[in-house]
Amino acid sequence: MADRSSANLWKEAKELFPGGVNSPVRSFRAVGGAPFFAQRAGGATLWDTDGRPYLDYVCSWGALPLGHAHPAIESALREAIVEGTSFGVPNPREVQLAKTIRASVPSIEKLRMTSSGTESCMTAVRLARGFTGRNKILKFAGCYHGHSDSLLVKAGSGALTHGEPDSAGVPAALADLTVVLPWNDPVAARDLFTREGKEIAAVILEPVPANAGLLPPQPGFLNQIRELCDRYETLLIFDEVITGFRLSMGGAQERFAIRPDLTILGKIVGGGLPAAALGGRTDILERLAPEGDVYQAGTLSGNPLAMAAGLAQIEEMERCGAHKQLEELGMLLESEIRDLLRRRGERGVQFQRISSLFCLFFTDQPVCSLETALRSDRKRFARFFHSLLRQGIFFPPSPFETCFLSTAHSQADLEKTVVAIDQALKESQ
Ligand code: PMP
Repeated sequence: MADRSSANLWKEAKELFPGGVNSPVRSFRAVGGAPFFAQRAGGATLWDTDGRPYLDYVCSWGALPLGHAHPAIESALREAIVEGTSFGVPNPREVQLAKTIRASVPSIEKLRMTSSGTESCMTAVRLARGFTGRNKILKFAGCYHGHSDSLLVKAGSGALTHGEPDSAGVPAALADLTVVLPWNDPVAARDLFTREGKEIAAVILEPVPANAGLLPPQPGFLNQIRELCDRYETLLIFDEVITGFRLSMGGAQERFAIRPDLTILGKIVGGGLPAAALGGRTDILERLAPEGDVYQAGTLSGNPLAMAAGLAQIEEMERCGAHKQLEELGMLLESEIRDLLRRRGERGVQFQRISSLFCLFFTDQPVCSLETALRSDRKRFARFFHSLLRQGIFFPPSPFETCFLSTAHSQADLEKTVVAIDQALKESQ
C-alpha cells in the first residue's frame, strides 16, 4: 500500500502542486514547517493520516459552524447523492436554499448561486460597474474578496502572509481602478468620496474583516460608509462570505442593522461543499444574464449536493440555536483568555473577538486596521502556533487569519485550549 504518512504525502504533493498545495495558506509558509494531511474529521477534531488528532480552530476556514461531518449534513447528502450529482438544468434544491437565504437576509431580494466566494465577488464588481456605468471600486486594505484581478489589490488572507498583497499578473490598468483605503478611517473615506465619489461604482467590504486577523468595525464606521454610498449613488457590497449566517441568521448586516445593496455569501451556505451566492436589490440583480446585459455563468452553480449540504447546515443551525451557543462559547473562551493574559502579565498580546470569530495579535498596541495588525510579531506567532500544534491544537497557520469556533467545541475543549495557550505563550516568548 502507498505510504500515506503526512511526511510522504507532503513530499509527493510538492512535486505535484506549486508550493505543495491547492490554496496558499494551507502551506504553513507563514509559520514554517510542513502541513499535515487530513484523513478524516468529526465534530471539532481533525485526524491526520498518521492518526494524530487535532482540536480544529480552522473548521474549513469558517464553512463548518456545526463542526465536521455533522449528521444532518451527512444524511442530506446521502439522500441527494443517489438522485444524481449534477444535472445541467435547474433543480428544486436551488429554489429551497434560495428561499431560505432570502427569508434570513432581507436585503437579498434576488440572488444567483455560484461555486465560490471569488466568483461571487468578481461578479458583484462586474454587476456594480454594469449597473452604475462607473469603473472605479473602493476596497479596504487587508480585506480579502477572493482572487479576481480587480480585488487582488492590498488583499488579506494568503496574499498578505506571502508578501504579495498586490499580485503579479494583475494589469496596472485594472488595479488602478481599485482604490484602497485604510479600514476604520472615516476621514479617509469622506475625503475620497468628496474627490471621486461620483466615479466609484461600488464599495466592497467585509463588515467584520477576518482576513488580516480580526478587525471589528469601530462604532459608526459602517453607517458612515452606507451614508456616503447613498449620497454619491455608489453601491455598497457586503462580502459576508465569513460573517453570513455566522454572526446571526441575517449575518453582519442584521447585527449592525445596515442594508447593503449587494451581499456575497459563501462558506456556510455550502455546508462544506463548493457553493456561494451573490444577492441583493432586484433592480440590480436583474441586470445579470440572461435577464440583463452583465454576463455570468457556471456549470456547477446551484449544484444539488452543495445545495443539500448548505440547506441542511442552515436549517440545523436554526433548529439547534447555533448562534446562541456560538456566542456563549465565544464569551467563555474570551473571558478565560483575558484572565490568562492578565495572570501572565502579557502586555504584548491583543485578543479580538466577535461571536465565534477570534484572534490573537502579538503586539502591545491596539489593532484596528491592516497597518496596526502588521505590527505584530510574526516570529512569536510562528513559535506560538507550533507549540499549540504539538499540543494537538490547530490554529490557522498565519498571524493574519482568524480562528473559528463551532458548536462542536465543548467547554472541556475550550479549557484544554486555554491550558495549551498558556504553555504556548510561555514557549513562544
Ligand atoms: N471573501 C471573503 C471574506 C473570504 O474570506 C473568502 C475566502 N476565505 C473569499 C471571499 C473567497 O472565497 P473562496 O475561497 O470561496 O473563493
